Amino acid sequence: MGKVKKTIKSITINADLCNGCRACELACSLFHAAPRYSSSNPARSRIRIVREPLKDIYVPVYAGEYTAAECTGRTMYILDGKEYAECDFCRASCPSRNLFKEPDSGLPLKCDMCEDEPPLEEPKCVEWCLNDALIYEEREEEVDEEEVSPGDVETGVESLLDKFGLQQVLDTIARTSKS
Ligand code: SF4
Ligand code: SF4
Repeated sequence: MGKVKKTIKSITINADLCNGCRACELACSLFHAAPRYSSSNPARSRIRIVREPLKDIYVPVYAGEYTAAECTGRTMYILDGKEYAECDFCRASCPSRNLFKEPDSGLPLKCDMCEDEPPLEEPKCVEWCLNDALIYEEREEEVDEEEVSPGDVETGVESLLDKFGLQQVLDTIARTSKS
């Protein structure tokens, strides 16, 4: 398998600097609206804030991989005297909760680092986090040629197959493509 150069993009989170303003959620949902910037809805954001003001808990969490099944390895965390619920740090679009699912269709949402053409200088959530709780970094890495992460369409189709099965999806595509 050949190697290719790839720009690895990452966002480091400093939860201590997050004040729970949720500007990042609005910026993300605006950027991903269709048409772009036509609506804002935090439920459509690919970053969500675990927000419990009475416990002084504000944790930005990025939407990660879609998973068809719940995990079994859940654990409570106590960090700096604050108790976090078992799923607070999890990035998965998972059947056990509504987080990171498009609210109308139920399809999984995943952070795509605001891929655009031409590329943005930095992702929208980072740009609008005025507290510098989100720090964007890029680095070059050699990766295997086939190591390409799935896009929104591929992840959406995978979740439909898990939910309805191949035959029903194929029947629906055949029916709707005729209309
Ligand atoms: S990097 Fe872009 S897609 Fe990812 S959460 Fe931030 S605004 Fe949303
Ligand atoms: S914009 Fe920054 S400070 Fe505001 S909720 Fe998001 S991560 Fe926290």
